[in-house]
Amino acid sequence: MLNKATVIGAGLAGSEAAWQLAQRGIAVDLYEMKPVRMTPAHHSNDFAELCCSNSLRGAEICTAPGLLKEELRRAGSLLIACADATRVEAGGALAVDRVAFAAMVTEKIKSHPNITVHAGEITHIPDEGHVIVATGPLTSDALFDDIKNKIGQHEYLHFYDAAAPIVSFDSVDMESAYFASRYDKGTADYINCPMDREQYDAFWQALCDAEQAPVHGFEDKKVFEGCMPVEVMGRRGHDTLLYGPLKPVGLRDPRTGKDPYAVVQLRRDNAAGSLYNLVGFQTHLKFPEQKRVFSMIPALRNAEFVRYGVMHRNTFMDSPRLLDRHFRLREQPRIRFAGQMTGVEGYIESAASGFEAGLNLARELKGLPLIEFPDTTAIGALGLYVSNEANVKFQPMNINFGIIQPLGYRVKGKREKNTQIALRALEQLDELLDTVKEDVL
Ligand SMILES: Cc1cc2nc3c(=O)[nH]c(=O)nc-3n(C[C@H](O)[C@H](O)[C@H](O)COP(=O)(O)OP(=O)(O)OC[C@H]3O[C@@H](n4cnc5c(N)ncnc54)[C@H](O)[C@@H]3O)c2cc1C
Repeated sequence: MLNKATVIGAGLAGSEAAWQLAQRGIAVDLYEMKPVRMTPAHHSNDFAELCCSNSLRGAEICTAPGLLKEELRRAGSLLIACADATRVEAGGALAVDRVAFAAMVTEKIKSHPNITVHAGEITHIPDEGHVIVATGPLTSDALFDDIKNKIGQHEYLHFYDAAAPIVSFDSVDMESAYFASRYDKGTADYINCPMDREQYDAFWQALCDAEQAPVHGFEDKKVFEGCMPVEVMGRRGHDTLLYGPLKPVGLRDPRTGKDPYAVVQLRRDNAAGSLYNLVGFQTHLKFPEQKRVFSMIPALRNAEFVRYGVMHRNTFMDSPRLLDRHFRLREQPRIRFAGQMTGVEGYIESAASGFEAGLNLARELKGLPLIEFPDTTAIGALGLYVSNEANVKFQPMNINFGIIQPLGYRVKGKREKNTQIALRALEQLDELLDTVKEDVL
């Protein structure tokens, strides 16, 4: 009993949590309902599936996602190791070959001697023992109802999250597109699909008028600002997209020597370079409408859509009233939650919460004091954000420097300030990991 734990869900958070437990000698029963039952957004049988973008966002430590990844890397994260190993070129971002990434995570988990994988849906949180629930924003209905019963009068919250389409490289008209990175920084990894004013106007009008797929319950129109459907953004005004995903600045067209009026960027989706996704084009238009409207982008006039964008309801808990900083249910601390359902938003943030929950559950089971990641680190800031009772209107949060403790002195320039915050975080993290290294091995 003592050295045993259950993890439910082998997504980003559950895979990381199971790994951290197993690496510390804890026997883990990992339950994943795929392939017996699939969520509406998951397609592959593998664990840690990235269901939309293949980007884990900024790689440099002067960006908050870059800092979070570097902290996880230093702390021994499985997911970051797999991401580094399956990286595809994407300018300043860490993007991965999604199939190779998920396959590698799955192989590592399945071959770990301390992890037993069980395929099938869990409908109830076990009545005994230590559990990490990491079933994600699309937790199956039966388990969802059981969680509701367990957390009592507290309400679940929700918003809608959309995915972007993927096209085959062979079908992109490269006569109408060019490789470049913004401001020619780094290598030219993105395919840029330019539009002139006339083409953009026609595209924008068609996008705004296009027919959306019916999404159950979407009447309240709660979308996450950071992952807003492209048509919702377009309807905010003619120029909105020109300051968002279609921003042309710094993407000089080599044929004209000028920045185009608008540019759609395509990012490599697999190592072979045979698939590309439309950056920032998460959408819930009907599939034929996606084909019709996105084919108005000249370079995509004959594009083959190997996957269309979809939108789903994302559910999360009112964590500030339910969880402590270690993702434990305050009223039943043997139960932890991790991942997107706790209100951390994004792949890496979900992995980070799984990392914290797994690592500290292992320590708890071994009778060791829990590691308190400070609010100067990105890992610590996330746990503190979701458990902060002062957060009255709780909303999911990507990692950002706004939730990390400020420096306490003035530094000129945002990049320099963020770099100093990151260096302080990494120094403190290294010290912390050093003090506990004997315990955790
Ligand atoms: C449509 C959509 C698009 C998104 N796009 C992005 C994006 O581009 N970038 C980004 O960073 N984030 C995106 N997200 C958010 C994304 O869900 C999270 O970043 C991440 O996948 C959350 O990790 P998780 O481990 O919490 O959940 P998941 O990765 O969803 O993992 C949960 C796992 O639990 C399993 N499961 C569910 N119920 C049960 C059950 N009852 N029993 C057993 N197993 C169960 C599921 O099959 C799944 O494998 C998107 C989400 C959605 C829904």
